[in-house]
Amino acid sequence: MWRNDTSIPFSLSDIIDLMTKPSESLPIIDEQKIGAHLKFHGLSGPEIDAELVDIEKSGGLPAEILRWWRGDAHTHSAESTREGFNYPEGLYHYEEILYYYEMLGLDFVCFTEHASLPQSPCVQEPTSAISQSLLEHTKRIHNLRKELSGKYRCLPFAGVEANIMYEGEKPRIDIPDEVLAELDFVIASRHRVPEEKRTELGDIRESLSSAIVNPYVNVIGHPDRDIQTKTEDPRAAEAYWQMWKELLGEMRLKNKAFEINLKAQPDPKLVQMAADMGVKFFLNFDAHEFNQFLNYGDPSSITTEQRKADAQKYAWASGSASEDDLSDLAIYKEEKLAQGPGVIPILRLTRWIKYLETIGVDPRQVVNSSRENFLAFLHGNSETQTA
Ligand SMILES: [Zn+2]
Ligand SMILES: [Zn+2]
Repeated sequence: MWRNDTSIPFSLSDIIDLMTKPSESLPIIDEQKIGAHLKFHGLSGPEIDAELVDIEKSGGLPAEILRWWRGDAHTHSAESTREGFNYPEGLYHYEEILYYYEMLGLDFVCFTEHASLPQSPCVQEPTSAISQSLLEHTKRIHNLRKELSGKYRCLPFAGVEANIMYEGEKPRIDIPDEVLAELDFVIASRHRVPEEKRTELGDIRESLSSAIVNPYVNVIGHPDRDIQTKTEDPRAAEAYWQMWKELLGEMRLKNKAFEINLKAQPDPKLVQMAADMGVKFFLNFDAHEFNQFLNYGDPSSITTEQRKADAQKYAWASGSASEDDLSDLAIYKEEKLAQGPGVIPILRLTRWIKYLETIGVDPRQVVNSSRENFLAFLHGNSETQTA
């Protein structure tokens, strides 16, 4: 079953014209090169509907998927890289990503840029370069949304993926409230919490809890990443699940959503617990590159070309890329889209949707199942902030 509205009114050049700041040094790839290659290559089997092989011809994702996933609320653009900052996170510009999602049939995308480095988070002052770039990013997105509203399907929102961290003995997130207050959407995630002792259950609980009670936080990103229990010890397992029972209770109370992150997937048992307790969900892609899953988890499959591209990405991120590096990177971007963007995430999405159906979750419990649902959730959260 396919969407009826196969017309795609959105043109990449329309958006480029609307941008208030010229794109950075990495060139924007040609519209045809995004649309023409939006195909699902080399996949078969019972899980993939035969019609799912050509998104372009079909005018978007199947209605069964769009009923649950009508927008992505965790996407990193090239803004996450911040040239000169030396850490390549996102590779694609707003324009390219919006166009890509428009083609999939989505109604919105939330650009959730990284704050301080996920590998070594540190507290940001409102005047720091990172805080200022987030504010600038927000202004650009808001202008763009105003221009696109009423004309196009896929609208952009401005967000951040803030790091949950410790400042001395106190858990907090790295971005100050003044900045968070300006953004549409805040994800708080645990990446690497410095100091080994912070991996103890008590610290994990305390750090997650501090993000849950923060009035500006909307969702806990990949909540159980790196902490999923595999213990045989029944007492340790009991303590682990008890911790989650309490945290999920707090999330329910504070209206904080639980992210089913397609890159760092949660334990299905935890998702069932959250569902039973009435916690809301996000189903999020967490895209950095649109091919990011091709080599995922298998270092032996990384090719020489990939290594070269990685070196170029670092050169670009540190602001030292040559003209040749940049044109190679532009080719790399095009080729990655041609290889079948989003194949694995869409497969994972299909599996999660089936799982959520099995455990009795309604699409309305998934915040990004529609733009209206997403806006209502944000509105509810901002009322909590001012209460
Ligand atoms: Zn993350
Ligand atoms: Zn992320």
